[in-house]
Amino acid sequence: MKRRMVVLLVDALGWNLASAAPGFAAPLEHRRKLDTVLGFSSGALPTLFTGRMPCEHGRFLMYRRRSADSPFRGFGALRALPKRLQSSGMLSRALTRLVRRRGVRGYFNLYEVPRPILAEFDLAERADVFSPGGLPLPSLWDTLEKSGVPWAHRDWRTPEQDNLAWLERELESTEFLFVYTADLDAQLHHEGSRGSGVRESLSRYDAVVGRLTERAKRSGEDLWIYLLSDHGMVDVARTEDVMARLAGLAVGWPRDYVAFFDSTMARFWWRRRAARESVRAALEGAPGRWLDAGDLDREGTRFADAAYGEDLFLLDPGVLMVPSFMGTSPLAAMHGYDPSHPDMAALLWSNRPIPREVGHLRDVRGFLESELDALTGSAA
Ligand SMILES: [Zn+2]
Repeated sequence: MKRRMVVLLVDALGWNLASAAPGFAAPLEHRRKLDTVLGFSSGALPTLFTGRMPCEHGRFLMYRRRSADSPFRGFGALRALPKRLQSSGMLSRALTRLVRRRGVRGYFNLYEVPRPILAEFDLAERADVFSPGGLPLPSLWDTLEKSGVPWAHRDWRTPEQDNLAWLERELESTEFLFVYTADLDAQLHHEGSRGSGVRESLSRYDAVVGRLTERAKRSGEDLWIYLLSDHGMVDVARTEDVMARLAGLAVGWPRDYVAFFDSTMARFWWRRRAARESVRAALEGAPGRWLDAGDLDREGTRFADAAYGEDLFLLDPGVLMVPSFMGTSPLAAMHGYDPSHPDMAALLWSNRPIPREVGHLRDVRGFLESELDALTGSAA
Protein backbone atom coordinates (compact mmCIF):
# COMPACT_ATOMS: atom_id res chain seq x y z
CA MET A 1 0.00 0.00 0.00
CA LYS A 2 1.25 3.45 -0.91
CA ARG A 3 2.21 5.50 2.13
CA ARG A 4 2.46 9.25 2.39
CA MET A 5 3.10 11.84 5.12
CA VAL A 6 1.39 15.22 5.31
CA VAL A 7 2.45 17.78 7.90
CA LEU A 8 0.27 20.85 8.36
CA LEU A 9 2.01 23.38 10.60
CA VAL A 10 -0.47 26.02 11.74
CA ASP A 11 1.24 28.93 13.47
CA ALA A 12 -0.42 29.80 16.82
CA LEU A 13 -2.84 26.84 16.84
CA GLY A 14 -2.79 26.39 20.60
CA TRP A 15 -3.65 23.15 22.36
CA ASN A 16 -6.42 24.86 24.33
CA LEU A 17 -7.95 26.56 21.29
CA ALA A 18 -8.00 23.37 19.19
CA SER A 19 -9.19 21.15 22.05
CA ALA A 20 -12.10 23.48 22.85
CA ALA A 21 -13.40 23.49 19.25
CA PRO A 22 -16.10 20.78 19.04
CA GLY A 23 -15.28 18.03 16.56
CA PHE A 24 -12.19 19.81 15.25
CA ALA A 25 -9.89 17.53 13.19
CA ALA A 26 -11.74 14.47 14.48
CA PRO A 27 -9.85 11.91 12.33
CA LEU A 28 -6.64 12.85 14.18
CA GLU A 29 -7.30 10.91 17.34
CA HIS A 30 -3.77 10.79 18.70
CA ARG A 31 -3.32 14.10 20.47
CA ARG A 32 -0.36 15.51 22.29
CA LYS A 33 0.13 18.83 24.05
CA LEU A 34 3.56 20.31 23.28
CA ASP A 35 5.49 22.70 25.47
CA THR A 36 6.72 25.65 23.47
CA VAL A 37 9.85 27.79 23.79
CA LEU A 38 10.18 31.30 25.21
CA GLY A 39 9.79 33.90 22.49
CA PHE A 40 8.11 33.82 19.11
CA SER A 41 8.05 31.74 15.92
CA SER A 42 11.55 32.99 15.09
CA GLY A 43 12.81 30.65 17.82
CA ALA A 44 10.01 28.07 17.83
CA LEU A 45 10.25 27.05 14.15
CA PRO A 46 14.02 26.41 14.26
CA THR A 47 13.43 24.32 17.41
CA LEU A 48 10.77 22.26 15.59
CA PHE A 49 13.03 21.75 12.58
CA THR A 50 16.31 21.01 14.40
CA GLY A 51 15.11 19.42 17.65
CA ARG A 52 17.38 21.83 19.54
CA MET A 53 16.77 24.73 21.90
CA PRO A 54 17.37 28.38 20.89
CA CYS A 55 20.78 28.62 22.60
CA GLU A 56 21.89 25.61 20.54
CA HIS A 57 20.59 26.63 17.10
CA GLY A 58 21.20 30.34 17.75
CA ARG A 59 17.70 31.61 16.89
CA PHE A 60 15.64 33.24 19.60
CA LEU A 61 13.95 36.50 18.58
CA MET A 62 13.65 38.21 15.19
CA TYR A 63 15.98 41.04 16.17
CA ARG A 64 19.38 40.55 17.76
CA ARG A 65 22.25 42.92 18.50
CA ARG A 66 24.19 43.91 15.41
CA SER A 67 27.11 41.93 14.08
CA ALA A 68 29.86 43.13 11.77
CA ASP A 69 27.76 42.95 8.59
CA SER A 70 24.26 43.84 9.73
CA PRO A 71 21.81 44.31 6.84
CA PHE A 72 20.86 47.56 8.60
CA ARG A 73 24.36 49.05 8.33
CA GLY A 74 24.22 52.74 7.57
CA PHE A 75 20.59 53.10 8.69
CA GLY A 76 21.75 55.44 11.49
CA ALA A 77 21.96 58.19 8.86
CA LEU A 78 18.14 58.11 8.59
CA ARG A 79 18.17 60.18 11.77
CA ALA A 80 18.65 63.21 9.52
CA LEU A 81 15.20 62.70 7.91
CA PRO A 82 12.11 64.44 9.29
CA LYS A 83 10.19 62.14 11.71
CA ARG A 84 7.20 61.98 9.36
CA LEU A 85 9.38 60.59 6.55
CA GLN A 86 11.13 58.15 8.89
CA SER A 87 7.82 56.44 9.59
CA SER A 88 6.45 56.58 6.04
CA GLY A 89 5.30 53.44 4.23
CA MET A 90 7.37 54.40 1.20
CA LEU A 91 10.58 54.41 3.22
CA SER A 92 9.61 51.10 4.87
CA ARG A 93 9.15 49.43 1.50
CA ALA A 94 12.44 50.83 0.19
CA LEU A 95 14.32 49.69 3.31
CA THR A 96 12.71 46.24 3.15
CA ARG A 97 13.87 45.88 -0.47
CA LEU A 98 17.37 47.01 0.51
CA VAL A 99 17.54 44.44 3.32
CA ARG A 100 16.48 41.70 0.86
CA ARG A 101 19.12 42.90 -1.63
CA ARG A 102 21.67 42.61 1.14
CA GLY A 103 21.01 38.88 1.18
CA VAL A 104 18.33 38.29 3.83
CA ARG A 105 16.21 35.31 2.66
CA GLY A 106 14.44 34.68 5.95
CA TYR A 107 11.20 36.10 7.32
CA PHE A 108 11.39 39.59 8.76
CA ASN A 109 9.29 42.69 9.19
CA LEU A 110 10.56 46.15 10.05
CA TYR A 111 7.38 46.70 12.08
CA GLU A 112 7.68 50.06 13.80
CA VAL A 113 11.28 49.80 14.91
CA PRO A 114 12.50 53.43 14.73
CA ARG A 115 14.40 53.36 11.43
CA PRO A 116 17.71 54.91 12.62
CA ILE A 117 17.74 52.55 15.65
CA LEU A 118 17.75 49.55 13.26
CA ALA A 119 21.49 50.21 12.83
CA GLU A 120 22.01 48.85 16.35
CA PHE A 121 20.45 45.49 15.40
CA ASP A 122 20.65 42.53 13.08
CA LEU A 123 18.24 39.87 11.86
CA ALA A 124 18.74 36.41 13.32
CA GLU A 125 17.17 34.67 10.32
CA ARG A 126 19.29 35.36 7.25
CA ALA A 127 18.69 32.13 5.31
CA ASP A 128 15.49 30.19 4.55
CA VAL A 129 14.71 28.07 7.64
CA PHE A 130 12.43 25.86 5.52
CA SER A 131 15.32 24.66 3.35
CA PRO A 132 18.17 22.17 3.63
CA GLY A 133 21.20 24.07 4.94
CA GLY A 134 18.98 26.96 6.07
CA LEU A 135 19.81 26.54 9.75
CA PRO A 136 23.16 26.44 11.54
CA LEU A 137 22.44 22.85 12.68
CA PRO A 138 21.17 19.85 10.72
CA SER A 139 17.39 19.97 10.36
CA LEU A 140 14.43 17.92 9.22
CA TRP A 141 14.96 19.35 5.72
CA ASP A 142 18.54 18.03 5.56
CA THR A 143 17.28 14.59 6.61
CA LEU A 144 14.56 14.68 3.94
CA GLU A 145 17.04 15.73 1.30
CA LYS A 146 19.37 12.86 2.21
CA SER A 147 16.53 10.33 2.45
CA GLY A 148 15.78 10.45 -1.25
CA VAL A 149 12.05 10.55 -0.45
CA PRO A 150 10.21 12.88 -2.85
CA TRP A 151 9.22 15.85 -0.69
CA ALA A 152 7.91 19.35 -1.14
CA HIS A 153 6.79 22.21 1.03
CA ARG A 154 5.01 25.55 1.03
CA ASP A 155 5.43 28.33 3.60
CA TRP A 156 4.65 32.01 4.29
CA ARG A 157 6.00 32.98 0.88
CA THR A 158 2.72 31.95 -0.75
CA PRO A 159 -0.89 32.56 0.43
CA GLU A 160 -2.57 29.98 2.65
CA GLN A 161 -5.38 29.39 0.17
CA ASP A 162 -2.88 28.46 -2.55
CA ASN A 163 -0.88 26.31 -0.15
CA LEU A 164 -3.88 24.26 0.96
CA ALA A 165 -5.04 23.77 -2.65
CA TRP A 166 -1.47 22.83 -3.63
CA LEU A 167 -1.38 20.28 -0.81
CA GLU A 168 -4.37 18.38 -2.15
CA ARG A 169 -3.08 18.51 -5.74
CA GLU A 170 0.50 17.59 -4.96
CA LEU A 171 -0.55 14.56 -2.94
CA GLU A 172 -0.64 12.48 -6.14
CA SER A 173 3.07 12.69 -6.77
CA THR A 174 4.88 13.41 -3.51
CA GLU A 175 5.48 11.25 -0.47
CA PHE A 176 6.27 13.89 2.15
CA LEU A 177 4.33 17.13 2.02
CA PHE A 178 4.66 20.04 4.39
CA VAL A 179 2.59 23.21 4.63
CA TYR A 180 3.21 26.10 6.98
CA THR A 181 0.59 28.80 7.43
CA ALA A 182 0.55 31.91 9.60
CA ASP A 183 -2.98 33.08 8.75
CA LEU A 184 -4.48 31.88 12.03
CA ASP A 185 -1.73 33.70 13.94
CA ALA A 186 -2.68 36.99 12.25
CA GLN A 187 -6.39 36.32 12.80
CA LEU A 188 -5.87 35.62 16.50
CA HIS A 189 -3.83 38.78 17.00
CA HIS A 190 -6.61 40.70 15.30
CA GLU A 191 -9.72 39.35 17.02
CA GLY A 192 -8.69 37.09 19.90
CA SER A 193 -9.50 33.44 20.57
CA ARG A 194 -13.28 33.93 20.38
CA GLY A 195 -13.30 35.72 17.01
CA SER A 196 -15.47 34.60 14.09
CA GLY A 197 -12.52 34.67 11.68
CA VAL A 198 -10.68 32.32 14.03
CA ARG A 199 -13.65 29.89 13.86
CA GLU A 200 -13.55 30.11 10.06
CA SER A 201 -9.83 29.36 10.00
CA LEU A 202 -10.37 26.33 12.22
CA SER A 203 -13.15 25.06 9.90
CA ARG A 204 -10.80 25.43 6.94
CA TYR A 205 -8.12 23.26 8.56
CA ASP A 206 -10.77 20.82 9.74
CA ALA A 207 -12.09 20.55 6.17
CA VAL A 208 -8.60 19.88 4.79
CA VAL A 209 -8.04 17.09 7.33
CA GLY A 210 -11.49 15.69 6.50
CA ARG A 211 -10.94 15.74 2.72
CA LEU A 212 -7.47 14.19 2.97
CA THR A 213 -8.81 11.43 5.20
CA GLU A 214 -11.77 10.71 2.89
CA ARG A 215 -9.62 10.63 -0.17
CA ALA A 216 -7.12 8.24 1.38
CA LYS A 217 -9.98 5.96 2.35
CA ARG A 218 -11.34 6.00 -1.19
CA SER A 219 -8.03 5.33 -2.87
CA GLY A 220 -6.95 2.81 -0.25
CA GLU A 221 -3.78 4.77 0.46
CA ASP A 222 -2.09 4.92 3.81
CA LEU A 223 -2.01 8.65 4.52
CA TRP A 224 -0.27 9.77 7.71
CA ILE A 225 -1.45 13.21 8.77
CA TYR A 226 0.28 15.42 11.33
CA LEU A 227 -1.32 18.65 12.49
CA LEU A 228 1.32 20.68 14.29
CA SER A 229 1.80 24.11 15.84
CA ASP A 230 4.62 26.15 17.30
CA HIS A 231 2.87 27.99 20.14
CA GLY A 232 -0.52 29.04 21.43
CA MET A 233 -1.96 32.50 22.02
CA VAL A 234 -3.10 34.40 25.10
CA ASP A 235 -6.01 36.85 24.95
CA VAL A 236 -4.82 40.33 25.88
CA ALA A 237 -6.31 41.59 29.14
CA ARG A 238 -4.46 44.91 29.42
CA THR A 239 -1.68 46.98 27.93
CA GLU A 240 1.45 48.34 29.51
CA ASP A 241 3.51 51.33 28.39
CA VAL A 242 7.06 50.32 29.30
CA MET A 243 8.60 53.14 27.28
CA ALA A 244 6.64 55.70 29.29
CA ARG A 245 8.09 54.28 32.52
CA LEU A 246 11.57 54.86 31.10
CA ALA A 247 10.90 58.23 29.47
CA GLY A 248 11.35 60.33 32.57
CA LEU A 249 14.74 58.90 33.56
CA ALA A 250 18.00 60.83 33.40
CA VAL A 251 19.39 57.93 31.34
CA GLY A 252 17.96 57.26 27.87
CA TRP A 253 18.27 55.10 24.78
CA PRO A 254 20.20 54.90 22.57
CA ARG A 255 22.71 57.10 24.43
CA ASP A 256 23.09 55.28 27.76
CA TYR A 257 21.72 51.91 26.75
CA VAL A 258 20.35 50.07 23.72
CA ALA A 259 16.83 48.69 24.06
CA PHE A 260 14.53 46.58 21.94
CA PHE A 261 10.83 46.54 22.78
CA ASP A 262 9.16 43.33 21.58
CA SER A 263 5.41 42.95 22.19
CA THR A 264 5.94 41.11 25.47
CA MET A 265 9.59 41.71 26.29
CA ALA A 266 11.93 44.65 26.83
CA ARG A 267 15.56 43.79 26.17
CA PHE A 268 18.53 45.88 27.21
CA TRP A 269 22.23 46.22 26.45
CA TRP A 270 23.97 48.64 28.81
CA ARG A 271 26.44 51.28 27.77
CA ARG A 272 26.75 52.64 31.34
CA ARG A 273 26.31 50.88 34.64
CA ALA A 274 24.12 53.65 36.06
CA ALA A 275 21.64 53.08 33.23
CA ARG A 276 21.03 49.51 34.36
CA GLU A 277 20.27 50.56 37.92
CA SER A 278 17.87 53.33 36.86
CA VAL A 279 16.02 51.16 34.35
CA ARG A 280 15.66 48.27 36.77
CA ALA A 281 14.31 50.62 39.42
CA ALA A 282 11.89 52.23 36.94
CA LEU A 283 10.35 48.87 36.02
CA GLU A 284 9.72 47.87 39.60
CA GLY A 285 5.98 47.49 39.92
CA ALA A 286 5.48 46.92 36.18
CA PRO A 287 3.40 43.77 35.44
CA GLY A 288 6.25 41.43 34.58
CA ARG A 289 9.62 40.20 35.78
CA TRP A 290 13.31 40.22 34.97
CA LEU A 291 14.50 36.88 33.65
CA ASP A 292 17.46 35.66 35.66
CA ALA A 293 20.19 33.25 34.54
CA GLY A 294 18.18 30.32 35.92
CA ASP A 295 15.13 31.28 33.85
CA LEU A 296 17.21 31.66 30.70
CA ASP A 297 18.97 28.33 31.28
CA ARG A 298 15.68 26.57 31.86
CA GLU A 299 14.19 28.01 28.67
CA GLY A 300 17.32 27.30 26.63
CA THR A 301 17.67 30.97 25.80
CA ARG A 302 20.89 31.95 27.57
CA PHE A 303 23.40 33.25 25.04
CA ALA A 304 27.03 33.76 26.04
CA ASP A 305 27.35 36.79 23.73
CA ALA A 306 24.11 38.42 25.00
CA ALA A 307 23.05 38.72 21.36
CA TYR A 308 19.40 38.98 22.41
CA GLY A 309 19.90 41.20 25.44
CA GLU A 310 21.99 41.50 28.59
CA ASP A 311 18.83 41.91 30.64
CA LEU A 312 15.34 40.80 29.61
CA PHE A 313 12.10 41.97 31.17
CA LEU A 314 9.14 39.68 30.37
CA LEU A 315 5.56 40.91 30.75
CA ASP A 316 2.96 38.79 32.53
CA PRO A 317 0.69 36.63 30.31
CA GLY A 318 -2.14 38.74 28.87
CA VAL A 319 -0.24 42.03 29.21
CA LEU A 320 0.69 43.60 25.86
CA MET A 321 3.38 46.24 25.51
CA VAL A 322 1.86 49.28 23.80
CA PRO A 323 3.60 50.98 22.21
CA SER A 324 6.39 48.60 21.31
CA PHE A 325 8.76 48.36 18.34
CA MET A 326 6.26 45.87 16.87
CA GLY A 327 3.28 48.20 16.91
CA THR A 328 1.55 51.20 18.43
CA SER A 329 -2.03 49.92 18.56
CA PRO A 330 -3.41 47.24 20.88
CA LEU A 331 -4.08 43.69 19.68
CA ALA A 332 -6.67 41.20 20.91
CA ALA A 333 -4.23 38.37 21.60
CA MET A 334 -0.49 37.83 21.85
CA HIS A 335 2.11 35.11 22.42
CA GLY A 336 5.72 35.32 23.54
CA TYR A 337 4.83 34.89 27.22
CA ASP A 338 6.08 32.43 29.81
CA PRO A 339 5.85 29.05 27.99
CA SER A 340 4.30 27.47 31.09
CA HIS A 341 1.09 29.49 30.71
CA PRO A 342 -1.63 26.97 29.66
CA ASP A 343 -2.69 28.98 26.59
CA MET A 344 0.89 29.02 25.29
CA ALA A 345 1.01 25.25 24.71
CA ALA A 346 1.34 23.99 21.13
CA LEU A 347 0.07 20.69 19.76
CA LEU A 348 0.77 17.65 17.66
CA TRP A 349 -2.30 15.74 16.50
CA SER A 350 -2.09 12.76 14.18
CA ASN A 351 -3.82 9.67 12.88
CA ARG A 352 -0.59 7.87 13.86
CA PRO A 353 0.34 6.97 17.44
CA ILE A 354 2.65 9.50 19.12
CA PRO A 355 5.32 8.08 21.45
CA ARG A 356 5.04 9.00 25.12
CA GLU A 357 8.29 10.93 25.16
CA VAL A 358 7.08 13.51 22.64
CA GLY A 359 6.00 16.49 24.73
CA HIS A 360 7.99 19.51 23.59
CA LEU A 361 8.68 21.27 20.28
CA ARG A 362 12.21 19.88 20.36
CA ASP A 363 10.85 16.30 20.25
CA VAL A 364 9.01 16.78 16.96
CA ARG A 365 11.93 16.48 14.54
CA GLY A 366 13.00 13.11 15.99
CA PHE A 367 9.43 11.84 15.85
CA LEU A 368 8.87 12.91 12.24
CA GLU A 369 12.21 11.40 11.21
CA SER A 370 11.30 8.08 12.84
CA GLU A 371 8.00 8.24 10.95
CA LEU A 372 9.96 8.88 7.78
CA ASP A 373 12.00 5.76 8.49
CA ALA A 374 8.80 3.81 8.96
CA LEU A 375 7.44 5.27 5.71
CA THR A 376 10.40 4.10 3.69
CA GLY A 377 10.74 0.85 5.57
CA SER A 378 14.29 1.71 6.61
CA ALA A 379 13.54 1.57 10.33
CA ALA A 380 15.94 -0.61 12.24
ZN1 LIG B 1 2.11 35.96 16.11
